[in-house]
Amino acid sequence: MLVKELVIATKNRKKLREIRQLLKGYKIKLCCLEDFSKAPNVKENGLTFKENAVKKAVRLARLTQKLTLGEDSGLEVKALNGAPGIYSSRFGGWPKSDQRNNRKLLKLLKGVAFSKRKAAYKSAVALADKDGLIKVVEGGCHGVIGYEPRGNSGFGYDPLFVIPKYKKTFAELGEKVKHTMSHRARALEKIKKTLVFYLSRQ
Ligand code: IMP
Repeated sequence: MLVKELVIATKNRKKLREIRQLLKGYKIKLCCLEDFSKAPNVKENGLTFKENAVKKAVRLARLTQKLTLGEDSGLEVKALNGAPGIYSSRFGGWPKSDQRNNRKLLKLLKGVAFSKRKAAYKSAVALADKDGLIKVVEGGCHGVIGYEPRGNSGFGYDPLFVIPKYKKTFAELGEKVKHTMSHRARALEKIKKTLVFYLSRQ
C-alpha cells in the first residue's frame, strides 16, 4: 500500500509534537524539516501569521515536491496592542528562549489588573503542494496572562496563559485539554477536509 506523506514545515520540535498528536487519526507519514538535508531557513518576515505560514508551506512544498503544511503562530496581548504577535518567538531577545519571552511579558504587564490581561493565541496553517498554495486558515484561543509561570506541560507562553473557565494555565491543564481548544487545533480542524482530499489524491 502506498504510504501517504505530509511534510510539516517547522523546526520547532514542540510544535511538531503537537501537530503530530492533532493529526494522529490520519494514516499518514509525517516528515519534518530535519528529514530534508537541503531544507532552507525560511525567513519569517511576513507581516501576518498567514503570510508567514504561506511562505513556509510554499517554499518547502516547492523544494520537496510534496504536500506540505506550514504553521505560524503567536500570542497577542490586548494591553500591549497585540504584541508580541508575529514576534512571539523572539520577543525576549537573543538567544531566543521561552523563559526570556515569559520574563519580558510579565515585566511589561507589571501592575496590570487581571481583568486587563486578556490575550489570544493565533495560529495560521497553510497547505501547499508543488504547484503552490492550496489553502490558508486561522484559528484562535482566548485566555488571560497570569502573574507567574505555572505548570510544566506545553511550551512557549503556556505557563502564563490562563484559561478562565478552568482557572489554570495551558501548562497546568496538559496536552489533552489544550488540544480540545487550542488555536492550533482549531486551525487544523478548519483545514482537515482539504487535507484529506489532497491526501486521497496521492
Ligand atoms: P513560530 O515558530 O515562529 O510560529 O513561533 C511561535 C511562537 O509563538 C512560539 O515560539 C511561542 O513563543 C509562541 N506560541 C505559539 N503557539 C504557542 C503555544 O501553543 N503555546 C505557547 N506558545 C506558543
